[in-house]
Amino acid sequence: MTQVQCHACHARVASYDLIHFGSMETGYRDLCSRCFNAEVARTGQIELEQVGFQPIDMSDAAGVKRRFHFLLLHLGDRVTLEAFEVQDSERRGYEFQILDDAQADLFELMARLVERMRRALSLRHLVDDGQRCSIADMTVRGRIGCDLESDDRVPMLVIDGREVSWEQFGQMLMTFEGWQFKPCLSG
Ligand SMILES: [Zn+2]
Repeated sequence: MTQVQCHACHARVASYDLIHFGSMETGYRDLCSRCFNAEVARTGQIELEQVGFQPIDMSDAAGVKRRFHFLLLHLGDRVTLEAFEVQDSERRGYEFQILDDAQADLFELMARLVERMRRALSLRHLVDDGQRCSIADMTVRGRIGCDLESDDRVPMLVIDGREVSWEQFGQMLMTFEGWQFKPCLSG
């Protein structure tokens, strides 16, 4: 696992737990999420709760077990909790995020996020017959990421927690040649 050092507490943490923090004026530091939250509390002169949520395993609609890591960040008047999968020390696959007021109960926030994850994991939008992957029904849900390996600026989609290149997605769409489509984007 790629580990990096927090500039504040000097602990070695996974790279996905590190936040690049600062400004042009003050310079940037890489802080672990605990130190990031402590810094937010200090500069905002607020008291906040530090909770280290342990990873959990959940099965998707195909019965595949997936491990989710959590990242809790206090942003002053808001708090955000993210859940994501990790492969080769990088965030890969499913990602979820929930945002609420800073006063929100963190365990209740976690419960809401897990419920959202359960709902998403119970759905399947792609079918894979072993030879090729295709769109299961009339609706595809997923996340638009960036294909860092492409020279062009094209998306890398994440559908059912798996990466689907822009080209692969184009091939899947050819099953529907001549049809109309309506992209329905949401944050
Ligand atoms: Zn730290």
